[in-house]
Parts: sequence; C-alpha cells; structure tokens
Amino acid sequence: MCAIFFVSLSIMNRTDAHTRIEELKAILLENSRKYYVENAPTMSDYEYDQLMHELESLEAKFPEFATADSPTRRVGSDLASQAESGFAKYPHKYPMLSLTNTYSISEVEEFAERASKALDRPFTWCCELKFDGTAICLTYRNGHLFRALTRGDGVKGDDVTENAKRISNIPHQLKGSGWPEEFEIRGEVLMPFESFDRLNHERELAEEPLFANPRNAASGSLKLQDPEEVGRRGLICTLYHIPTGQVDFPTHDAALRAAEQWGLPVSHERRLCSGIAEIEQFIDHWDTARKQLPYPTDGIVLKINEMAFQFQLGYTAKSPRWAVAYKFKAEQACTPILGIDYQVGRTGAVTPVANLEPVFLSGTMVKRATLVNEDQIRMLDIHEGDWVYVEKGGEIIPKITGVEESKRSPGAKEPVFPSVCPDCGAPLVRVEGEAKWFCPNTKGCPTQIKGRMEHFVTRKAMNILCGEATIDQLYRMGLANTPSDLYRLKADQLTCLEGWKERAAERFLGSVKASKSVPFERVLFAIGIRFVGETTARDIARHFGSIEALEQASKEDLLAVPEVGEVIADSVYNFFRDADNIKEIEALKASGLNFSTEKAEAASEALKGKSIVISGNFSISRDDMKALIEANGGRNSSSVSSKTDYLLAGTKPGPEKLKKAAELGIPVIGEEEFMAMLPEKAASAPSAQEIPVEEENDLTLF
Ligand code: NAD
Repeated sequence: MCAIFFVSLSIMNRTDAHTRIEELKAILLENSRKYYVENAPTMSDYEYDQLMHELESLEAKFPEFATADSPTRRVGSDLASQAESGFAKYPHKYPMLSLTNTYSISEVEEFAERASKALDRPFTWCCELKFDGTAICLTYRNGHLFRALTRGDGVKGDDVTENAKRISNIPHQLKGSGWPEEFEIRGEVLMPFESFDRLNHERELAEEPLFANPRNAASGSLKLQDPEEVGRRGLICTLYHIPTGQVDFPTHDAALRAAEQWGLPVSHERRLCSGIAEIEQFIDHWDTARKQLPYPTDGIVLKINEMAFQFQLGYTAKSPRWAVAYKFKAEQACTPILGIDYQVGRTGAVTPVANLEPVFLSGTMVKRATLVNEDQIRMLDIHEGDWVYVEKGGEIIPKITGVEESKRSPGAKEPVFPSVCPDCGAPLVRVEGEAKWFCPNTKGCPTQIKGRMEHFVTRKAMNILCGEATIDQLYRMGLANTPSDLYRLKADQLTCLEGWKERAAERFLGSVKASKSVPFERVLFAIGIRFVGETTARDIARHFGSIEALEQASKEDLLAVPEVGEVIADSVYNFFRDADNIKEIEALKASGLNFSTEKAEAASEALKGKSIVISGNFSISRDDMKALIEANGGRNSSSVSSKTDYLLAGTKPGPEKLKKAAELGIPVIGEEEFMAMLPEKAASAPSAQEIPVEEENDLTLF
C-alpha cells in the first residue's frame, strides 16, 4: 500500500526522492481517477493538494525525475473510453486548463507581487467566486448552442450537449446582438444544495450510494446517459471565461458583461480590485458570506482583468499564469449533541446518529450527523452532551470531525453502544472484519422486514406505488411481511383499511400488476442482496441471464463478472444458500415476476453493429427501448454524429437531434419502422410497457 504521509525533503537522497516521486505519482493518479471518473473520492481535497504540493517540490529539487506524464503537469482527466462513457469526444479549440491554487493568503500576496513585477504597469484584478462544480465549455454557432464539452483531459472533452440542454439556465438561443459567428464560453455546472439534499435523500431511500458532495453529484449528473434525468437533477450553470482570441474585448470583465447581455448566465458576485488590500477584503467577505449562498463554492479566483496582460503572461502546461485560486478550508461549525439514536437499516446494520442543536452550515441547516460506528465514537472520544465540530467537506455530509473538550461538562459519560437491537431486542453481533454491529434477527426484526419491502417497491426497483407509511400499515395489519405478500393482496383487503378508497386500492394493485413486467435486472436489484446496487444487479443479470444460473453460480463464477469483487461475490453466494431467500424467490416466481433475461436474449442480431440514437417518447419506456436495441445487437448512443446509423424518433423528438440528423443525412425512423426491422419475437421483447411512469414513488394514496 502507498504511504500517504508527508516526507521531509531536506533529508532525502536521490534514490529516496525517486522512489517517493513514483509513489506520489501513483497515489495522485489513482485518486484523480476516483475523483474525476468515478466521482467517489476517498481522500479530502486538502490532503490531495498537500501531496501534489510535495510532488511539485520534489520535482523542482530533482528535475531529472520530472516526467511529462506527471500529475503536476497535466490536468486531471475525467475521460473514460467512449464504450464506457457513451459520449463522443471532441477536441477543445483552446486547451481547458486548471488553476494554480493555494490555501495561504501570503502565497496570494506573493503571486500578486510577481504579476506586478512581470507586467511593470498598472493593471486591475477581477476577483470572482470559485464555483465548486464541474467545468463545461459551450460553443455557440450563429447564436445557437452548438456543442457542450466537459473539460475531459484538457485537450478533448466528452460531448454532453444533450445533457447541457436540460440545464434550465443554459440558453439554447442567444438574445440581443453582436455575438461572434462562433465562440466558446466556459464555466461551471453546479448542483445547488437544495437539489443535492433532495437527490441524496432519494438515493438513501433506494439504498444507493450517496454522493459525497455537490461537486461529485454535479459531475456525475452531467455524465448521465439519460438527458431527461439530467433535467430532473436541478443543475445550474454559471459562466466565467471566454478564451482569448475569440472575442475582441479589452478586459475580462467587459467580455462577461457582453455575455450577460446575450442572455448567458454570468455571476454578479465579482469585483474589480486594484491591489492586495482590496483582494483581501473580497476574500474576507466571501469566506463568511458564501455560507449564505444556495450553491457550493470552494474559494476565490483572482484574474488579471486586462486581456493584453493575460496574453502577455500566457500559460504553463497546466494553468494560466494570469490567475490564481485561493481555496477556503472545509467549513466547520461547533454545536452540542442533544442525544444519540441508534438506527437499524434494512440490512440490520446499526448506525449511531447524533441529534444536534440545529446549526447553519454550507447552505443548509444541520440537525443530525452520522457517527458512523462504535469505533468512530471511541476514536473521537465523544461524551454525552459534548460540543462537536461538524463538517460538510469532501465526505458524505454531514460528519462529526472532532470534540471541543473545553466545553465538556464535568462528569459527562461516554455513550453506551447498545448490546441489543433498538427495534427488536435481539443481541447485536459484530462479524470479524466489519466495523458495524448488526441485528442478526433478519427475519423477525420489524425495521429490517419493512426496510426490505420499502426497497423492493422503489421506483428504480419494482416501481410499486406506495411509500413507507403504506408499508408500515400493511405490516402492522398483518397483510405483508415479505415482498411476495404484496402480490397476494386483494382490493377488499385494502379498502377496509383506514384511509384507503377504492381508487387508491386500484392504483396500488395496478402498479403491483405492472411490476410483473419489470426486467430481471431490476427484479434482482429489488430483492435486496447486500452490496448489489442497481449497476451490479444489471451486470450480474446480463452475465448469468437467469436466476437459476445465478443460484448455481460458484464464487469463482461470480468473480468473473466485471466489477464484482470478493465482498459482492460472497454476499450473492450466501444469499442463495439461505432457504428463506429461496422460498421467497419461488413465491415471487409463482407471482409471475421476470427472473430471466430470456426475452431479451431470445432477440436477434438484426441491429448488429448499428449505432442508434433515440429521441422522444415511445409506447414503451426509453430504458426498455434502449434494452431492445441492445438485445438485438445494436448500440445506443446519446448524440447524433456521422457515426450514427439511425435516429429513432418517437413522439416529441428533440428538434436539435432531428436537425443534426438532417444535416448529416442520417436516416430518421419511427417506432413502427424500427419494430419492423426486428424479427417478430424480438420485437415483443420489451418488458415495462404497463409500468406507469411516476416522478416519485412515495406518493400518498389517501
Ligand atoms: P480546481 O478545481 O482546483 O480549479 C480549477 C477549476 O476551477 C477550473 O477548471 C474551473 O472548473 C473551476 N472554476 C470555478 N470557478 C471558477 C472561476 N470563477 N474561474 C475559473 N475557473 C473556475 O482544479 P481542478 O483541476 O478542476 O481540480 C484539481 C483539484 O481537485 C485539486 O486541487 C483537488 O483539490 C481536487 N482533487 C481532489 C481529489 C481527491 O481525491 N480529493 C482528486 C483529484 C483532484
């Protein structure tokens, strides 16, 4: 394992330096991939920046070991292959670089001094917020949004035009006049705190991994393959840079003012400063004021305002020499613990959660924070009633990071972790290697029983129209203990329950019936095997094709599925060794649920090698349409390009896609024409046509 501690430079010989440089490069590259490609960092930004700083210093002292591929000389890349990401890649007209950054005011002062010396003439600074999202480059051609690219590796980016069009404040058409025939404008796609909290809440209910912070959520959302879902994520965009040479403006600020007149979203939170005193005032102001902003920021960017001077100073391989970012340290608040709850999840894991005196932090009111597990409570040395530091940094929010011991009441006791399940009273167990305590009463603990049903009905699983309250009622009335019980419910059993009217019962039972058409991969996700999320369920379903094949799979067979490691393989293997699980699957099978991909596999090779873009609505869901294309050998692509074979247009297709297809001479086919291309059996393959499409599944039935 690589060492993450920082090593003193002064005592290093050449060999040690070389080893450490290679080690740092490996750590930084690995973490860069986790951050940019997976959107799931495991290290804080501060730690990452410290290691980068150490590498820079070592390379400066031992230049013979500084290679062109070093992370100090390259922009962190968010690119995955087109096959993996599904996005076409296009080159940037001008490289999209990073920024030199610092956490120290004295380094900002040094930077300002160096710039003054280099220019040796009066100039101004444009001070802006550093928006914490993911970079985007928009190209407008004849006033029309032509293309949106991510930063990618700085040289080329992913074409996310269709997704960018779903971001509400990105104009498709400019207003006013005077824009160049074609120009690029760059900025940041952000997820406001409110959208972030909503998204993570939905993911929590579906037991999907939470996004660590709004930056990762913005970046993950911009790379979705489903533009409609991107539209639902509540992203916004703010633009802050028109690359030099494209628009003739004397200053950066004048360029932004023009952009604003063309209807482009430009932040007003910027200020022209003439020297370091004004810059420091700006930094001081926003260090506090940013806490009231509805979107995330992580610092301040100082840019030399005069374009001629920007041009004179130029760029390094990684960043402009005319700008620097001052980064704020993660925001913290100190507040007392009012009490600790021990929550049981659907898998039986018991998580301590601190109830806090409400405190305002990074745009939201924090009332609860996870204490993760018993070890964490001991490590932080938490006592009852302690004042604790809460952070909403790079981690899943919010998190308790420390204790203010000076405020501890005399005689405060350490919390006692329960020895029995707070819900059913079963003695808790802690399996070797696990940091959490578990309630082993899987079959009898009400929270776990209800939790499994709640997960089963979610939109991304079986999409049955009911929420927590309904599940609780059905459970309390003895009508449902397992997901398969839902398929045995009759209208008259429901209408005699409190709050149920005939219409509500009909809707509920209609959605239960429709769920029988849900494809195998979602059924597999719904049955709630530990560690098997949506993507893993899809990979496993496609690999094995049927529940029978999966039941018989050995651990080695499971490990052959890409992305399935030891932990998942063990969990799946053990799930199918449990007689109750097998009994439940048999009951679900008897209710008519899909336990194989046979229908899709029985399809054909009619579309082999064909790249198809779908647009608009069809008689089946878009996901099913995509599955049908794949099942018949075709490939789904998100945007029309010269490599597209067909644009499959349903009702209300995107006008941009139609236009592009016409420009490139790509055939546009309708649903009927498309179905006619498939053998009869294959064309009837889609599965979810009866499923009502609902935005939220936790709707009130009463
Ligand atoms: P950065 O985020 O530090 O700064 C550059 C980016 O700032 C630009 O690309 C742009 O997208 C953005 N920006 C926001 N507001 C801006 C404005 N007003 N003007 C200009 N640009 C603005 O740099 P980066 O290259 O995107 O990312 C590197 C940083 O990412 C590292 O310093 C580190 O903090 C973090 N990182 C963390 C990990 C980890 O594991 N935690 C891994 C890789 C990178």
